Amino acid sequence: MVTRPRILVVGAGFAGVGCVRRLERKLSPGEADITLVTPYSYQLYLPLLPQVASGVLTPQSIALSLRRSKKYRTRIIPGGAIGVDLKAKVCVIRTITDKIVDERYDYIVLAPGSVTRTFNIPGLVDHAYGMKTLAEAAYLRDHVISQLDLADASDDPAERASRLQFVVVGGGYAGTETAACLQRLTHGAVRRYPRLDPSLIKWHLIDIAPKLMPELGDKLGRTAQEILARRGIEVSLGVSIDKAAAEEVTFTDGRVVPTHTLIWTAGVVASPLIATLGAETVRGRLAVNAEMHLPGEDGVFALGDAAAVPDRAKGDDAVCPPTAQHAMRQGRHVADNVIATLHNQPLTPYVHRDLGLVVDLGGTDAVSKPLGIELRGLAAQAVARGYHWSALRTNVAKARVLTNWTLNALAGDDFVRTGFQSRRPAKLKDFEYPDHYLTPDEVRAHVARTDSPKR
Ligand SMILES: Cc1cc2nc3c(=O)[nH]c(=O)nc-3n(C[C@H](O)[C@H](O)[C@H](O)COP(=O)(O)OP(=O)(O)OC[C@H]3O[C@@H](n4cnc5c(N)ncnc54)[C@H](O)[C@@H]3O)c2cc1C
Repeated sequence: MVTRPRILVVGAGFAGVGCVRRLERKLSPGEADITLVTPYSYQLYLPLLPQVASGVLTPQSIALSLRRSKKYRTRIIPGGAIGVDLKAKVCVIRTITDKIVDERYDYIVLAPGSVTRTFNIPGLVDHAYGMKTLAEAAYLRDHVISQLDLADASDDPAERASRLQFVVVGGGYAGTETAACLQRLTHGAVRRYPRLDPSLIKWHLIDIAPKLMPELGDKLGRTAQEILARRGIEVSLGVSIDKAAAEEVTFTDGRVVPTHTLIWTAGVVASPLIATLGAETVRGRLAVNAEMHLPGEDGVFALGDAAAVPDRAKGDDAVCPPTAQHAMRQGRHVADNVIATLHNQPLTPYVHRDLGLVVDLGGTDAVSKPLGIELRGLAAQAVARGYHWSALRTNVAKARVLTNWTLNALAGDDFVRTGFQSRRPAKLKDFEYPDHYLTPDEVRAHVARTDSPKR
């Protein structure tokens, strides 16, 4: 019997999907079996997530189907990998029905991305919301609108004030865009609540670092801060959270802010799947070489937010930052290296010079730094939207996003609270499942116990 090499890709994000689509294109069906493990049947275009939270885009428009074309022949396992045994070449998977299955592979491409980085701050994981998944963005939109509804219905001035204060922690692009887009949501919505005093609405954006989005440089960073201040967002730098509770947040500078909304976007850390390998890591990301290969292990590749891929364009000890820009290019490149391995050819290093940053602050507010050129206002907005639009993988997603942008510009938002997820647990741990993963010892013990027959 002829057996084909089995290629297993873990994660259907920018990196994983980029890899799978290239493998499908470049390998004939007879050359290898390609399998993808992913909890969802779409690739999420994360950079536009704040626009889903603010209602400018519908959730479906940034969820790109993995089954759009008949040419997509990869077998998809609906679930999440919870451990990998590198020696036995087995990936342990928890399916979406909680069944545990073992998947054997000859080559594995690890692209499970990252999860929200939290710290040991009392109350944080129990009271903070994240901005990493489609469900979180949709939930947050409902939550923010419900704060206006509840404040409007209440006759208690203290409750009104606390429901109308919002705190976002994290002054990177994810946090800044989230604060800016959601502030626009409340600013627009409050006009529909004649009983509410708009001056009670307060947004706080805080970060322990001394600057917002340092990648933008001093001048553009200051411009972003001025835009936010003009819109009434209070930016506090050099400040973090001391503790969080259901109805208030204490800042490290001693301020106590009554609020029901703490949004935590203070960075990411590699998926917990990486720790199950028991291999070397660099600040949690798997330590791979510039070919995205794990040294000393046959047929193991990792990339995207989950891996510390050396940044050859920067040199020295630099590693690629966790951005979509790198992840999608690494996806295509790692596919070429997997194919080179199959064909006993030499692997090539990943090299990409950073193209810069685009930051959409909602409406016509934006700052962008493409190829080092500093832009603000409409020009920055055009570059930001043009960049994201062209980076969307499918034409149908491009059409949906463009239609949504146009509709929103012309007709605005109706600020409807859907209620789909109301009364469900919805804090950080409820969306990102950090407790599902095995330890390296548990993975080995599980694989030894089940010892599934080899194909
Ligand atoms: C709000 C926000 C705004 C951003 N804006 C920008 C931007 O403007 N520009 C930019 O370049 N980058 C931006 N980023 C960062 C960018 O989205 C990430 O760097 C990029 O998504 C990383 O790609 P990835 O493929 O490594 O991971 P992801 O795209 O996160 O994909 C990982 C995939 O793996 C799946 N997965 C997770 N765990 C498992 C598991 N155990 N088993 C199987 N599958 C698993 C996930 O469901 C997901 O589909 C932003 C991020 C956020 C959150």
